[in-house]
Amino acid sequence: MEFVGLDYIFTPHQRVFWIYILSALFIAGVYMWFFPATLSEYKNRKIWTHKSALMDYKYFVVVAFIKKVFILSLILSSKDVSLWMILFLQEQFGYTSTLSFSREYVMLLYTLTLFIVGDFTRYLLHRLLHTVPFLWKIHQVHHSAEVLNPLTFYRVHPVENILFGLRYALSAGVVTGVFIYLFGANIGLIEIVGANIFLFVFGLLGSNLRHSHVPLRYGDFFEKVFISPFQHQLHHSISFTHKNFGGTLAIWDLLFGTLHIEKTQTNIAYGTQENSSFDTVAQMLFKPFYKEVKT
Ligand SMILES: [Zn+2]
Ligand SMILES: [Zn+2]
Repeated sequence: MEFVGLDYIFTPHQRVFWIYILSALFIAGVYMWFFPATLSEYKNRKIWTHKSALMDYKYFVVVAFIKKVFILSLILSSKDVSLWMILFLQEQFGYTSTLSFSREYVMLLYTLTLFIVGDFTRYLLHRLLHTVPFLWKIHQVHHSAEVLNPLTFYRVHPVENILFGLRYALSAGVVTGVFIYLFGANIGLIEIVGANIFLFVFGLLGSNLRHSHVPLRYGDFFEKVFISPFQHQLHHSISFTHKNFGGTLAIWDLLFGTLHIEKTQTNIAYGTQENSSFDTVAQMLFKPFYKEVKT
């Protein structure tokens, strides 16, 4: 079961954790009640049985297996990075007596810092995936989806998985190292059912709708603070591919000029300008490495 990704349903830091799926279904249901056009789009475009969706399902199983067997053991852990960070800080600044704040305060600060730094490094890496030509080839696997469903989230090339894994180890490791150096080893995360509370709330608010045809918006003001599901759908559209790189927060897009806000619309054309399409899982895995053969 765990080799084909079924365990993701019971893993709180996975996008398809059952509680997040249920809340997304609930929000989608309410949304369709008010805007039946969304429901018609699901019927007309055959969102669940479209060939792009069928590829997502197959790819999900294969990549879950690749991750379990080959990748997870390769990636350096945030624990290693935090140890190096502590040693580095001790070498640079010597031993200091740790600052004494209440444990609750430190936990809140640590949880919040991890969330904000994590979200920022996500933005940076995602932007690089769009701007460095080789990385864009890799990332096109995600953008080649012609319809969106929650499993499209996992339509990501293994090289991108490795990069995001390294990004996580580095950002979480550095933050944790700094916190242990400053506040001592007695730090902890504020968690709900084993997930960072901020990510849990984000999951509940319909993170699965990012890869769906439910164009849920947060309104002009809040879309400058948080990326709405519709803003990520725009990121998958052919017209606004290189906008809205943000994960949870929109402030990075706002600060660095990549934010795009648009009135709700249905029947968006998804995919890439390059028209990248893949007919088999093997193509998705290997085509990014092919040299373009011009005929
Ligand atoms: Zn992208
Ligand atoms: Zn996406």
